[in-house]
Amino acid sequence: MMVGVIGTTTAVLSGLDHVRHWQDELYRDLHAHPELPHQERRTAAVIAARLREMGGEVHEGVGGTGVVGVVRNGVGPTVLLRADMDALPVREDTGLSYASTEVAEDGSPVMHACGHDVHVTCLLGAAALLAGAPDRWAGTLVALFQPAEESADGARGMVEDGLAEIVGSIDVAMAQHVLPMPAGTVGTRSGPTLSAADSMRVTVHGRGAHGSMPQAAVDPVVLASMIVVRLQTVVAREVAPGDTAVLTVGSIQAGAKSNVIPDHAVLQINVRTYDDQTRSRVLEAIERIVRAECAASGSPAEPEFEMYDRYPLTDNDPDATERVAAAFADFFGERAGELPRQSASEDFSDLPRALGAPYTYWGIGGSDPDAYRAAQEAGRVAQDVPVNHSAAFAPVIQPTLDTGTRALVVGALAWLAAT
Ligand SMILES: [Zn+2]
Ligand SMILES: [Zn+2]
Repeated sequence: MMVGVIGTTTAVLSGLDHVRHWQDELYRDLHAHPELPHQERRTAAVIAARLREMGGEVHEGVGGTGVVGVVRNGVGPTVLLRADMDALPVREDTGLSYASTEVAEDGSPVMHACGHDVHVTCLLGAAALLAGAPDRWAGTLVALFQPAEESADGARGMVEDGLAEIVGSIDVAMAQHVLPMPAGTVGTRSGPTLSAADSMRVTVHGRGAHGSMPQAAVDPVVLASMIVVRLQTVVAREVAPGDTAVLTVGSIQAGAKSNVIPDHAVLQINVRTYDDQTRSRVLEAIERIVRAECAASGSPAEPEFEMYDRYPLTDNDPDATERVAAAFADFFGERAGELPRQSASEDFSDLPRALGAPYTYWGIGGSDPDAYRAAQEAGRVAQDVPVNHSAAFAPVIQPTLDTGTRALVVGALAWLAAT
């Protein structure tokens, strides 16, 4: 059976020479024109036009700017492949000839600093290859282009806008992310793969006064500082050594002037966890510590907690992952490996969770292989290889696009190949 699948894969991918031609150009265009979450109008139009050329159904405006292409090709499984489309408010510093100079409506610079332009380009290529070889597979291919991954609500928005009615029931969902690994490589992982993320805005109250009269104040700067220090004990003292959690206070704001004690402070806290139990334990510990420190300071009002940017756990289905990993091993050989668990987060799994389908999410390399090797030999990967969200993040076009396109085709054919 595997020989049949490999033959099918080779046949479908024989169109890659042609597809690569427009993919390279499309990628540069998308990279030069990034759009912030929920503003992906140009990107969506480019995608929809490309999907229409392939034939099949095209659904636009799903969950705002989402696009869904459906290629129905007889009786067989339904496979959903997802790419995210949005960019970040980062000023690009790659020096690339196709670097972004775009500015968002609110004046912030915009950059495809997370590589979602790679994802879009690869998925369009994979969809074109599969749509162009209908005699090689059977079933339904759903090519889903999701907005607003970076704001954690794009997948949910598509679900709430009736995604299930468009795609019906699906057998499996897959997605990929370009990562700071050598271009040409792919990595799969079973079980918890990307962390759950929670952001919390905490407002604590003090009593303002002249900076020279602390006796008249409840100083929220001191209060917030004690909270920051005490929060360092949550992971160190309350999470079991075998479990993993990250707690970062990324922002702390209070006051504006050296001689004025302000009346409140705002902390923004980010939490990453890999299981629900640790997640609730950490979130409860934060609330407990904040309330206790407020009491210790004699805070005149209860603290306020606001949750935002909440990402679900990406917990890859073992069977679906095994199937993809086996297909990758056959096709990519030693360039396929295991993906280390990532501390980053994704809202992709909101899609299959809502559709009641298993899913798997893998990584593809985007770093220049020679530069990566040199950094590795110097023991300087963390310092020298630009990571996602950095202003210097610049995946090499090839073999990144070829690898991401092939990975999607190989993954989809693990279900759809006619045998
Ligand atoms: Zn990102
Ligand atoms: Zn991303």
